[in-house]
Amino acid sequence: MSTKAAPLVHTRSHALQQRAERYFPGGVNSPVRAFRAVGGAPPFVERAEGAYVVDADGNRYIDYVGSWGPMILGHAFPPVVEAIERAARNSASFGASTASEADLAERIVACYPAIEKMRFVSSGTEATMSAIRLARAATGRKIIIKFEGCYHGHADGLLVKAGSGVATFGIPGSAGVPEEIAGLTIALPYNDLGAVEAAFAAHPDAIAAIIVEPIVGNAGCIPPHLGPAGFAPELVDRMHRQQRKAWEATVGPADYLAGLRLLTRQYGALFICDEVMTGFRVALGGACELYSLDPDLVTLGKIVGGGLPVGVFGGKQKYMDMLAPLGPVYQAGTLSGNPLAMAAGIATIGYLQEHKTEVYSRIEATARAVFDGVSQEAQKANVVLCGNRVGAMWTWFFTGGPVRNYEDAAKSDTAAFGRFHRAMLDRGVWLPPSQFEAAFLGTAHGEAEVQATIEAAKEAFRAA
Ligand code: PLP
Repeated sequence: MSTKAAPLVHTRSHALQQRAERYFPGGVNSPVRAFRAVGGAPPFVERAEGAYVVDADGNRYIDYVGSWGPMILGHAFPPVVEAIERAARNSASFGASTASEADLAERIVACYPAIEKMRFVSSGTEATMSAIRLARAATGRKIIIKFEGCYHGHADGLLVKAGSGVATFGIPGSAGVPEEIAGLTIALPYNDLGAVEAAFAAHPDAIAAIIVEPIVGNAGCIPPHLGPAGFAPELVDRMHRQQRKAWEATVGPADYLAGLRLLTRQYGALFICDEVMTGFRVALGGACELYSLDPDLVTLGKIVGGGLPVGVFGGKQKYMDMLAPLGPVYQAGTLSGNPLAMAAGIATIGYLQEHKTEVYSRIEATARAVFDGVSQEAQKANVVLCGNRVGAMWTWFFTGGPVRNYEDAAKSDTAAFGRFHRAMLDRGVWLPPSQFEAAFLGTAHGEAEVQATIEAAKEAFRAA
């Protein structure tokens, strides 16, 4: 079989990109969409259905981006489309409360026991930014711990050593962030509890919160350490030994994250799980369910809005009640709790709740098949890859691995990734256009898409 794909025609996409460049920096409204990290012009999307997107030139691709996570039920999923249409007939927005907000909140609380109260916002960035403000107000402290390669949106203090587009373009943070603000963020290697303990020891009364992607997605997919190997030996010695039994009874085997929880409790800081990506994806209750986590605050986005702009921050009532109008922490939004977004969220989360077992077992099996199949093709072609996967999110790093943190991920051969990406795109498979992003799939992907993807990868590896 030929390893050459007939080059796809992108004439209309090229023209649309040129027009977009007149109006938008880089022609885009979010940097990674420009495809700079993988080369070539980005296809412009005209429509999408199920597991497929169709570009402006009529090329059809199997989609592993899923709007960067939200499309767990596939594109244009009829119940979601109908819910949006129904809501739109009653007007798109009122700037006043509607019953739909509590309808969605009720569903979120049922999935996330850690969330007692919440607030809807319009993006993941707003959710994490607001959670940080709340943590600072609750503790009267200023410093935030985050982890290298984690991305929590583009609020000033959270861009320090961030993942996603920041990592993709090799930027250490962002111009325009005052050093006084960046100086309040401590960025530590992920999966290293010793580093966290040292930071708390150095600033015992100054750290307001740890914010973490419990499973990193924005440096590519990196799971948390499981088991005692995740602990720094000195931490095990000093405190873990006495408490280990009690933890194991309550938190299961996710020791890295359990360690973060323990340290935040010990030092009076808040533990914020940023589940904008992992929420409703790795399980109905996200990483909190998967690893039995009990954070103080949780941030959500992506799936919770069914493809419309929604973010959530929520958690313990004693913290959430510090928000205006009850308390002194100000936070607001003209379109927060937007009725169209609530309708899409209710349809999506409702479907996930009602078909929980079926959905999560299906996407696990499909993701496993495509992940293993492509990894095996790489091995046969002597292409060095290290794959990380948790459920239906994964990354093939172009390095021998293991990839346990951003430093490991950064060893990837990004040029090789770029060639692979382009070769797959030419064969009708749309992967995230950066080594430092996770791929996703949903319930619309099935055997046919898996086989076509493996076949495309076989050719792409041989062509590379
Ligand atoms: N937090 C995480 C874990 C994310 O993956 C993202 C976006 O990818 C954000 C926050 C920011 O969300 P948004 O792009 O909706 O502002």
